[in-house]
Amino acid sequence: MIRVENLSKEYKSKNKNNCVALKNISFELPEKGLVFIVGKSGSGKSTLLNLIGGLDNVTSGSINVFGNEISILNEKQLNSYRSSLIGFIFQDFHLLEDLTIEENIALSLKLNNQYEKSKIEKALKQVDLEGFNSRYPTELSGGQKQRVAIARALIKNPDIILADEPTGNLDSKTTKQIIELIKKISKDKLVVVVSHNLYDAYDYGDRIIELSDGVIINDLIINDKYSNVIKKEGNQIIIPSTIKFSEEELNKLLTMCKSNDVVEIKQANDKFITYNKKIERKSKANITKTNLKTKEVLKFSYLFGKKRFGRFVLSSLMAAIIVVVLALSQSIAYFNPSVMISENIDENTDAYCVRKNIDNVLGETRIKSISDEEIVPFEEKGIQVYKLYNETLINTNTYKVSKLELPSDISKNLYTSETYGTLVTTPEYAKKVLGVEELEIYTGDVTYQKYGMYITDYFADAFLYNAGITSYDDILGDCLQIGGYTWCWGYINGIIKTDYKTKYSSLIEDTIKGNLDDELSEEEIDFYDYIIHSLAITYSFEESFIEEICNTPHYKSFQWVYNNYFNGVETTSSFTYMVAASYYGVELKENEIIMHYDLYNKIFKTDYNLSNVDSFVPHQVHFHCSDEYGAKKYDGVFTIKSIGKTTGSSVMASDKILIDLKKAMTVCYGLYFDGEDMTNAIQYAIDNNYIAISMKMSAIQTMSKAVSIFKEFFDLIVFILLVGCGAIIVSFGVKNINSRKYEIGILKALGCNFASFETMFFLHTVVVALLIILFQTIGFAIFSDLANDILVESLKKLAVNHVMLDLQFISFDINLMIFDAILVVLISLLSSFVPTVLLKRIKPISIIKAKE
Ligand code: ADP
Ligand code: MG
Repeated sequence: MIRVENLSKEYKSKNKNNCVALKNISFELPEKGLVFIVGKSGSGKSTLLNLIGGLDNVTSGSINVFGNEISILNEKQLNSYRSSLIGFIFQDFHLLEDLTIEENIALSLKLNNQYEKSKIEKALKQVDLEGFNSRYPTELSGGQKQRVAIARALIKNPDIILADEPTGNLDSKTTKQIIELIKKISKDKLVVVVSHNLYDAYDYGDRIIELSDGVIINDLIINDKYSNVIKKEGNQIIIPSTIKFSEEELNKLLTMCKSNDVVEIKQANDKFITYNKKIERKSKANITKTNLKTKEVLKFSYLFGKKRFGRFVLSSLMAAIIVVVLALSQSIAYFNPSVMISENIDENTDAYCVRKNIDNVLGETRIKSISDEEIVPFEEKGIQVYKLYNETLINTNTYKVSKLELPSDISKNLYTSETYGTLVTTPEYAKKVLGVEELEIYTGDVTYQKYGMYITDYFADAFLYNAGITSYDDILGDCLQIGGYTWCWGYINGIIKTDYKTKYSSLIEDTIKGNLDDELSEEEIDFYDYIIHSLAITYSFEESFIEEICNTPHYKSFQWVYNNYFNGVETTSSFTYMVAASYYGVELKENEIIMHYDLYNKIFKTDYNLSNVDSFVPHQVHFHCSDEYGAKKYDGVFTIKSIGKTTGSSVMASDKILIDLKKAMTVCYGLYFDGEDMTNAIQYAIDNNYIAISMKMSAIQTMSKAVSIFKEFFDLIVFILLVGCGAIIVSFGVKNINSRKYEIGILKALGCNFASFETMFFLHTVVVALLIILFQTIGFAIFSDLANDILVESLKKLAVNHVMLDLQFISFDINLMIFDAILVVLISLLSSFVPTVLLKRIKPISIIKAKE
C-alpha cells in the first residue's frame, strides 16, 4: 500500500521560473486494484507517478510504499527499490533494442537475481506473445512492444505496477487489449495507471484520482451500490454507467421514448463515490538489494560495445598514433648518448677517446691540452685512463701515407702526414685499441731503446710506399730523418703488426685507385676511425715516457715553438728554430741564449750587423710562448748572451731552456678510456665538452648536442601528447556513454545499480587501452626505424664530416613501450573518472521524458 502525505514537487529551473507540479497532496492507495490518475496535460500526473516510482526526488512530504519511506532513500537504495518493488510500464515502452524480447524480459529478473527460464515462457504466455522469444523490439508492433514491457514489469512479481499512459501510443483496439491485460493484473496487485482517457478510467478503474494544477480535485472509488441494470426511476430511465452513449444517442433514445412518461434518459454516474476512508496498514514489503551478476555485466558491456567497435578502434588508433609520436619524442628527449656510445663501442676493437676543442674561431679547430687535474674526475669514474701526447713522428708532404686521397673534409681530421700522437699505454690496452689478439712487434736487429715508441705497420708502410725505403729495418732504431727536416720526436723501437690490410683490403685498393665516393660508406668511416685512433698513433709502454723523453739527447736537438714573443713582440709568423747550443759546441749557462741580430733588431728596433755586433751588451729579455694549439704557455726570462749570425735558426738556447721548453710543449691532448663500464666517464666527457676522437662517436655526440638543445621542446611535446592522449580517451569515454544514455536511463529506471554501469563502461575503456597498447606497440615497431632514418638523414647535415652511420637513435625499446603502456593504463583510469561523473548525472527521468 502507498501512503502519500503532504507531497510537493517543485521543478527548479535556471531562469527562476520554478514550476510547482504537485502542491501538498495526500492520499492512500490499497494493496490491490487498478488506480487511474487522470487530469489534463500538465496537471502533474507523471510527476506523481515518477515520485512514487523513485525516479525523481520529492521536494517535500513523504511517500510510504509498503512501509518504506521513499523520500529518504539514497540513489543506491532507490535502484534497489525500483528493481524489487516496482514494475514500470512506459508510454514509449522503453525496451532495449539490442536485446531480444526474451533478454529484455529476463533482464528484469536478472537485476533481482531471480532468473529462471520457465518464468519467461510464463510471462510471454501471459501477454500472449509465445514464440516471440528471439525477436528484437524493432520487429514488433506498438501493442506487442507494450505487452513485452508489461511482461517485463510483471515477471519479477513487483508489489506495484506503475504505468504512465501505457496506451498513449496505441490504436483503440490494442488499447483495449492492453487495458484489459492491466485490469487482469490488478486483480492481485496494485496497478497505478496515468491516463487522460477518462472513459478507460471509468470503465476499468477501481479508483480514479483526478489532478488539476498539482492538486487532487477528485478522488473516487467504486460505489458498492451502483446499478448495473437499466431501470426506471420516476420519470427517468437510468442506464448503467458502464454502457456508453453519446449525448446524441441519448437524445435519439429520448424521442423514441417520448410516448411514455419518460422525459429524460440519462446515464448513471453512480459507479464511483468520493473516497474518504482510511486504509488499514496491513503488510510491509522489503526492499531487497539488487545486483547484476558479473557475467551479466560483462554481457552488457559487450552488448553496448559491440556495435561501436569501429569507434573503439578509431579512438584507439588516434590515441595510439599520439602515443607512437610520444614514444618517438621520448626516445629523443631521453636519448642517452653515453649509453648509446657504450653500446656502439665494440668491446674488443674499439676505444673511446676524447679530446677537448677550444675554439674554431679561425675556422680551424684547436685542441686544448688536458691537465692532470682534469683527468682526476675520469679516474674517479672507476676507469683506466691512458694519455695521448702530442709527440708525433712527422712525415712531410713528400710522403703521403698509403696514397690516401681523402675527401677534403675528412683529411682535415686525418693527419696522414704524421702520426697522431703518442699513446702511453699498456700492451694489453694496445691490443684492444688495435684489435689484435697478440702484440706482434717486429724489431729487426734493433735493440730496445728506453723511451722509444712503437709504430704500426700502417704507418711504417707509408715509408715503404713513398719514401723509397725497402725494408722496415731502415726505419727501425735511431730517430728518423724525414723529408729533409732534421728532427723527430722519438726512436722507433718496433713495428706493430696489425690486420688492417686484410680487414680493409678492398678499401685500400679503392683508395689507391681513387675510387672514393663523396659519401662515406660505413666501412670507410670505420677505416678512418681505425686510422685516427689506432693505426696512426704511436705507442709507448713506458709510464715515464714524457718526463724522460725530454732529457734524452736525441730529443733536444731541435725544437720548434709556436707563438713566441720576446718582450711582447711576436717574433715569427711561422716558427722559430731554437737550436741547442750544445749542438754547435757552444757553452751556454742555464738561462742564456744567443740570438740572430736580425731577430734582435726586430725586437729592440736596433741596427746591428756583422760589423758592430761586438758592441752588444748582454741583457735580459722576457720570453713567452704557447704550443701549436695555442694552449699551454711557457714563461721565462732569458739572458741574451750575444747576438750574431746563427745558422739555420734565430735563437740558440741552453740545454736547460730547451728541456724546459720541451716539457712545457709536450702536452697530453687526448684521453683513451678503458674499463668494464665506461658509461659514467663518457657521460662526464660529454657533459664537459670533450669530443670523441673517432668520427663515429662524434656523430653520436653531435646528436646529443642537438638533443640537449631541443630537450625542453621535446619535454613539452611529451607533455602535450600525454594531455592529447588523455583527451582522446576522455572524449571516447564521454561519447561512448552519451551514445548509450538512453539505455543507461532505462536500466537505471529498471533498478540496475550504479557499480554495474561503472564496470560496463569502464571495461570499454580497458578494451580501448588494450587496443592502444597493441597499436602503439605495432606502430612504434614499424615507425621507429623510419623515424630513425629521417632523423639520421637530417642530423647528418649537422655532424662532423656528415658522418652519422647507421646509428639507432630511435629504436624499438621494450622498456619504453612498457612504460608508455603503464602510462596509457593510468591515463585511462584517470580518464574514466570523467565518464563516471557523467554516468551519475544521467537521471532515468530525463531519458524517459526525452522520448515522450
Ligand atoms: P502531466 O504528466 O500531467 O502532463 P507532468 O507531471 O509531466 O504533467 O508536469 C507537471 C508540471 O510540471 C507541468 O507544468 C510541467 O511543465 C512541469 N514539469 C514537468 N517536468 C518538469 C521538469 N523536469 N522541469 C520543469 N518543469 C517540469
Ligand atoms: Mg505525463
